[in-house]
Amino acid sequence: MAEQTKYVLDEADLPAQWYNVIPDLPEPPPPPLHPGTREPVGPDDLAPLFPQALIAQEVTTDRYVDIPEEVREVYRLWRPSPLFRARRLEKALGTPARIYYKYEGVSPVGSHKPNTAVPQAFYNAAEGVTRLTTETGAGQWGSALAFACAQYGLECEVWQVRASYDQKPYRKLMMETFGATVHPSPSELTESGRAILERHPDSTGSLGIAISEAVEQAAQDPDARYALGSVLNHVLLHQTVIGEEALKQFELAGDTPDLLVGCTGGGSNFGGLAFPFLREKLAGRMDPVIRAVEPAACPSLTRGKYAYDFGDTAGLTPLLKMHTLGHEFIPDPIHAGGLRYHGMSPLISHIYELGLIEAIAIGQQECFAAGVRFARSEGIIPAPEPTHALAACIQEALRCKETGEEKVILTALCGHAHLDLPAYGAYLAGDMVDNELSDATLEESLATLP
Ligand SMILES: *Cc1c(COP(=O)(O)O)cnc(C)c1O
Repeated sequence: MAEQTKYVLDEADLPAQWYNVIPDLPEPPPPPLHPGTREPVGPDDLAPLFPQALIAQEVTTDRYVDIPEEVREVYRLWRPSPLFRARRLEKALGTPARIYYKYEGVSPVGSHKPNTAVPQAFYNAAEGVTRLTTETGAGQWGSALAFACAQYGLECEVWQVRASYDQKPYRKLMMETFGATVHPSPSELTESGRAILERHPDSTGSLGIAISEAVEQAAQDPDARYALGSVLNHVLLHQTVIGEEALKQFELAGDTPDLLVGCTGGGSNFGGLAFPFLREKLAGRMDPVIRAVEPAACPSLTRGKYAYDFGDTAGLTPLLKMHTLGHEFIPDPIHAGGLRYHGMSPLISHIYELGLIEAIAIGQQECFAAGVRFARSEGIIPAPEPTHALAACIQEALRCKETGEEKVILTALCGHAHLDLPAYGAYLAGDMVDNELSDATLEESLATLP
């Protein structure tokens, strides 16, 4: 029999519930604080920004949350997503390791983001909200939310980081095709945007600034709410469909992972893959090492401080206890736009503090080398973000080649690069540089912590 490379589930195997890791942790993560009172925020504080259903999911202590049938119907457009064994990459590397990847690029916008965009749009529509505002860095989240809003008849307004707005016209066109309105950020439309433009008229923007603009707009319109594509507990909850499916696919493969690797921007694809496996690990049913990989230019877990900080630049959000580089931090313009956020999910940060996961940082040249190697063997051109995870997989696979260890490695290939090819162009032309963050810049930025 031919060796199997693809593990596919039936529609009937689509998860019926999301998994909440919090009740299984030895202690819960510290709560978000109100920036004025420094008391834990209550549901009323969040009501101008999020629908009740998502506020409830943000703080739930239930281990499982039912996925509404209206959401599962949309998930079925691309889920369950395939798990692949990277046999050609293994062969090219000459490694005895077995490398698997869960491929999320099969979604309508080519990344894992719709896994949360769809339920977020659904719950807002169900509560009578008519308009969603959001930010987007690389453009993947804006595309996902635009698609999800089209499914449930919501208006969608996106503040896209200026640098990406100018460099990635196709993401903007994708959002507009799905019916969204797209503004470059900083914009003249908000107080936060105008304040930045006054100080820096040529600002190329940042995720933190774009979040300020989208939050400000939602807070001013009673029919609007705000949607965040990563970082928060409810986002990571929705992404656990990735790990739940992967567990079933590993049963089909008759294998068990020794190592999970994922790229971390705000932590949602990593948490989505890892949490169901962490549940199995905490229950003693398997014992994988779980490793987060971040860019050397934006190393919130490996070099940031674990402290309360704002989620945005203007300081409009609650204070989140997280690994942060400082809310005014503007990372160098590396090509993995989705990994350029100053903070890390409070839940991932907490789990890291508990010692349940590891983290490493890798420079972008090594990552794109891994992306090219992967593309030439597996036939999928990975988005710039997951090249970080692939570089870590390759590091490990080459170590196994030295030691002869038959380690089983699993990663989330969280998106493809069809709209990010200019980044590969820069790499292939030899124009890519590694931006190492200096201690001085980091210290300066951390000095702005509230
Ligand atoms: C947004 C994005 C990321 C970073 O976000 P996480 O919340 O850390 O997953 C990574 N990869 C892709 C393809 C993305 O679209």
